[in-house]
Amino acid sequence: MNLIEKDRQYLWHPYTQHKTAQTPVAITKGEGALLWDENNKEYIDAIASWWVNPFGHSNKFIADAIYKQLTTLEHVLFGGFTHEPAVALAEKLMTILPENQQKIFFSDNGSTSVEVAIKVALQYFFNKDEKRTTIIAFEDAFHGDTFAAMAASGISFYTQAFQGMFIDVVRIPVPLKGQEQQSFDALKKVIQEYNCAGFIFEPLVQGAAGMVMYEAEALDELIKICKDNNVLTIADEVMTGFGKTGKTFAMDYTEEKPDMMCLSKALTAGTIPMAITTFTQEIFEAFYDDDINKALFHGHTFTANPTGCAAALASLDLLQTQEMQANLIRVNANHLSFEERIKNHPKVTTTRVLGTIFALEIKKENEETYYGTMRTKLYNFFIENGIVLRPVGNIVYILPPYIITDKQLQKVYEVVEKALEIV
Ligand SMILES: *Cc1c(COP(=O)(O)O)cnc(C)c1O
Repeated sequence: MNLIEKDRQYLWHPYTQHKTAQTPVAITKGEGALLWDENNKEYIDAIASWWVNPFGHSNKFIADAIYKQLTTLEHVLFGGFTHEPAVALAEKLMTILPENQQKIFFSDNGSTSVEVAIKVALQYFFNKDEKRTTIIAFEDAFHGDTFAAMAASGISFYTQAFQGMFIDVVRIPVPLKGQEQQSFDALKKVIQEYNCAGFIFEPLVQGAAGMVMYEAEALDELIKICKDNNVLTIADEVMTGFGKTGKTFAMDYTEEKPDMMCLSKALTAGTIPMAITTFTQEIFEAFYDDDINKALFHGHTFTANPTGCAAALASLDLLQTQEMQANLIRVNANHLSFEERIKNHPKVTTTRVLGTIFALEIKKENEETYYGTMRTKLYNFFIENGIVLRPVGNIVYILPPYIITDKQLQKVYEVVEKALEIV
């Protein structure tokens, strides 16, 4: 049996209806922005493998750091113990996070980093004997697939089987350009009507919704409203973190800073699963007490896995090199000139760019669903042409590893342009 047949026999893939799904592509090797399948066909990974891989596949620098850690101390429990990689990573993060972020809590994936933030928001008020149990989130938000993260997410078919089983969440519209006031008003209204504990948002870019973007000034206003009303703010930077928006964090564009931040995806550059939730000192202090019941009783077996910490440290070293910072600017410049070229195309309704993120929306005849026919047609066309892109309905976005070459990027643009002719 070959890989595909064995896969079909044993495996269950994420977000996949196995009855109607096409066979998966069996990848055997990756290097830089490139992937190869078992027939040695080459693909450009134009979405950095679900946004995790800024520095390219099979990166030797990170691999060496991981090997060194694996052969020194691969893992030790974090309950009652500590270790150098965790301390060094926390110390390093303190130099790049917004100044108000003072405490680091580890988990394993983006969803759990959100789960931790939401639990902390709820317990923060519980510890203070204040009844606040509702979480505010944006329409069309995506915060992950565990229960609280799902509750905060707004994409219905991800969550429809579980309606009625969620924590209390109220939704406000995203402050899209020209519609900011509706968003501000909605936030004020829900804060008046419900006992709101926290507001969770994807800062500046809603990834899974199709790289939907809004301005930093609008986010500043929303955070200010929350601060005035003692509602905790949670910036879910799982997608936007570590350079994607052109700055280290999307929250580097705002004046107002959040109470908590969620980090994962590019944290370890696609090597070891790891996530972090960060907190202000003030939040930490609401749990700091002689009463053990006020502690945060949350943890995971692999919390602060030393190998993951070493991978994160090496990733941050790479991000901070002049060369990588120049790559961020270079990818952005390429996106902007492609945007100029494509934005007046008759099939294109809108384009948007922030940092290394590019998105365009294709004119649609019918209502296009997330995994609809246009999406399938586009996806297949990209794969046939050796480009890994996952359109969201009629939205095509490009979020490449920062080390992608100009030539590879031009190839991606050309195929996207050609794809406009087949839909
Ligand atoms: C991907 C993502 C998550 C969930 O992360 P997982 O590692 O897939 O659990 C949460 N929030 C945002 C903004 C994401 O993009």
